[in-house]
Amino acid sequence: MSRQPDGVNKENTMNDREHANGVPKTLTVPTRGSAPHVTCSAGSFPDELWPRRRSTLLGILGAASMMASGTGVKAVQAESTRDEPIAGEARNGRIDVHAHFLPEHYRSALAAAGHSKPSGMPGIPNWSVEQAIAMMDRLNIDAAVLSISAPGLHFGDDAAARKLARYTNEKGAEAMRAHPTRFGLFAALPLPDIDGSLAEIEYAFDTLGCDGVVVESNHNGVYLGDRKLDPVFEELNRRHAKIFIHPTNPHCPCCQDPTALPPIGYPFPMIEFMFETTRAVFNLILSGTLDRYPNVKVIVPHAGATVPVLADRVAGLSPALGLPKPLDVPRFYKTLRGLYYDLAGFPLPRQIGPLLEIADPKHILYGSDWPYTPEPLVADLAKKLDATALMSPRMRVDVMRKNALALFPRFR
Ligand SMILES: [Zn+2]
Repeated sequence: MSRQPDGVNKENTMNDREHANGVPKTLTVPTRGSAPHVTCSAGSFPDELWPRRRSTLLGILGAASMMASGTGVKAVQAESTRDEPIAGEARNGRIDVHAHFLPEHYRSALAAAGHSKPSGMPGIPNWSVEQAIAMMDRLNIDAAVLSISAPGLHFGDDAAARKLARYTNEKGAEAMRAHPTRFGLFAALPLPDIDGSLAEIEYAFDTLGCDGVVVESNHNGVYLGDRKLDPVFEELNRRHAKIFIHPTNPHCPCCQDPTALPPIGYPFPMIEFMFETTRAVFNLILSGTLDRYPNVKVIVPHAGATVPVLADRVAGLSPALGLPKPLDVPRFYKTLRGLYYDLAGFPLPRQIGPLLEIADPKHILYGSDWPYTPEPLVADLAKKLDATALMSPRMRVDVMRKNALALFPRFR
């Protein structure tokens, strides 16, 4: 990718050179403190699932590390953000914008709707306030903005979805009230039910004091960017709301049976979630939704999924495709740069490079994806983010904490 959007700073350009050809050069970062504690003793999936999978998971982690070193990413000494407070701040932990929660009745509603293995995952993860705080303490996460994950909460009935959204948001707010410095809330909406969602937005913001909303990439086939959702975007725009996008199962006939896997047979989160996110983000832009509602702040998960590597294709091919409205290419890149991106998942060693080509480094945020991502994997990512040479020490502090504080200043 040779294109450099305007405004890429020197720090970013240096990073681009560092990973020429996708292979980061080795850089030894001085050790300033102990690396975060990496635990492998606790899983977030139900106990009956976890022990059988733990050894496999740890084997995968080892193999992934070996593969990374095979590409030239040699071990660098960990530079932890854990032990050294940021000047003027009492705390220095991460702020997690991609953190899921599953209150009890939400779990049972998932199972009752046939999603006992949501999106092909091994099971519905366990979650409690206590488990979440214990995990956050182990991994130096000061605060987490809670959200539900795939497959959302609308399982075909508007009234049931409204009720479940209200219950879920009440539970999130309860956690937030009990631990105001530890939890925030992206409220869930009963989309694609528009009236129900507008009522829930009002309640979640005005009564519960939520920090924003979570929306799935599609809601029963209505993808983000669809004009049907405009009343909801209009209201979110009026409130200058933060919108956290989460991928869900693609909407195609073969993916509608909650017990089935997509045609090539792998759980949705591994491959399909990336394309779902990409589809939703490009549709939000190409449909003009983000032009019409410029006040919303959109957070894209998983380092932008495949948006960064496909952006040039969308921009380059669009004139040849006869789109209803020609794409304004500079505006397209500017919009991409205005989005926020979390680093949940597996952004290292390769995904973060293309992300830095399209994103504002001040808009990159930390995300754990716990408990859907088991704690050992979350810990492994945290360790790698603390050590990677692809972020300067200053950028690391921004990404882990300060960028999120600019969005959610109440966690200061
Ligand atoms: Zn997630």
